[in-house]
Amino acid sequence: MNNLNIFNESKRYMPGGVNSPVRAFTGLNINPPVIKSGKGAYIYDEEGKKYIDFVLAWGPMILGHSDEEVVEEAIKTLREAQAFGAPTYLELELAKLICDIYKIDMIRMVNSGTEATMSAVKLARGYTNRDKVVKFSGCYHGHFDAFLVAAGSGVMTENIPGSAGVPKDSIKNTIIANYNDIENVKEVFEKWGEEIACVIVEPVAGNMGVVPATMEFLNFLREITNKYGSLLIFDEVMTGFRVALGGAKELYGIQPDLVTFAKIIGGGLPCGAYGGRREIMEMLSPIGSVYQAGTMSGNPVVVSMGLATLKKLKSNGGYYEQLEQLSSYMHRQIEVILNNKSIPFVINRCGSMMTVFFTEENSVKNYEDAKKCNIDLYRRYAEHMITNGIYLSPSQFEAMFLSVKHTKEDIEIFLDVLKRFH
Ligand code: PMP
Repeated sequence: MNNLNIFNESKRYMPGGVNSPVRAFTGLNINPPVIKSGKGAYIYDEEGKKYIDFVLAWGPMILGHSDEEVVEEAIKTLREAQAFGAPTYLELELAKLICDIYKIDMIRMVNSGTEATMSAVKLARGYTNRDKVVKFSGCYHGHFDAFLVAAGSGVMTENIPGSAGVPKDSIKNTIIANYNDIENVKEVFEKWGEEIACVIVEPVAGNMGVVPATMEFLNFLREITNKYGSLLIFDEVMTGFRVALGGAKELYGIQPDLVTFAKIIGGGLPCGAYGGRREIMEMLSPIGSVYQAGTMSGNPVVVSMGLATLKKLKSNGGYYEQLEQLSSYMHRQIEVILNNKSIPFVINRCGSMMTVFFTEENSVKNYEDAKKCNIDLYRRYAEHMITNGIYLSPSQFEAMFLSVKHTKEDIEIFLDVLKRFH
């Protein structure tokens, strides 16, 4: 069957033909290719067409698709350990490795990024005995009710649910603040400081397109949360083991109280985790009073793939330099091409995470800036690139990723296709 027939039939059986909305290419005039297989930096659709993949499953596939060593580990595990719902040695190994790399005491594994952030917030509420959560507009932390909030204009106005099915009550303790805006966070703490359980932030946002926090902003969040006894949660679901081995924390040198992971730590299988200091983590059941559980949490196959991925990333010291070099080359060359075409743009990049914003602004520092982009131009760009074998996000408000399997030749192909965009 060709892509279109499969996708059309999928629409009869799955809402929008997909299991997660962005995959449907809503707003684009092309249908999403139906992907059959992947190897290294490439993916192939049901019609046998090859694409250079800059989505990488939205981040996890940093070693490229079906890395031999990672797959070997998973198969070995699968032969003898599918699921037990019992302690395993493998999960201990992964827990120790993550704690060692990120310098935290303890970790709890879950099955998705959403579960990780949702559970971290519950833990922060349990630990502080407070209810309010500060979240930044443009940051995405999964589909947990309390995060599905569209902010009214300005932080002091009433929140509106950002999705049908979210009761107003579920978001009444969510405070939306502006990213990279110290004054705004100050106002929030002056008003509600003693009630704030936690501030959750993507230290390098990837979900309004790539927008790194400034050093001053993250330092300020660390100070103000310390001052008011609130917890600081870094959502490193996307950035963990991506922007550096030690995530954004390593780049900024700021230690959060809690951190959430997913994506890379499962090597391409469903995963998530949250961790932090012992005194906070020991609030979790079965030893503490904050209840959180999961039948599949710490599943041996997922854990072995995550372990193989992280071990490889840790042992090959050169991967992150390699990613930086290739990404930086790509970044500079895109600048040259778009300048030649007189297309206004801003590129934000943090290591191998990058977004080309089609905008007349001089910089993109927050959600308000990101929203000013020329969505129609992005749509045409995405259609052109994807049709010509460059698989990237159908939406302006996402990141583009590189893997260690991408080569200079792959980037040259990307650049050639971009040159033909008009
Ligand atoms: N937090 C961040 C920063 C994310 O990027 C995402 C997903 N892209 C999530 C949380 C939610 O993760 P999941 O889709 O695994 O539930």
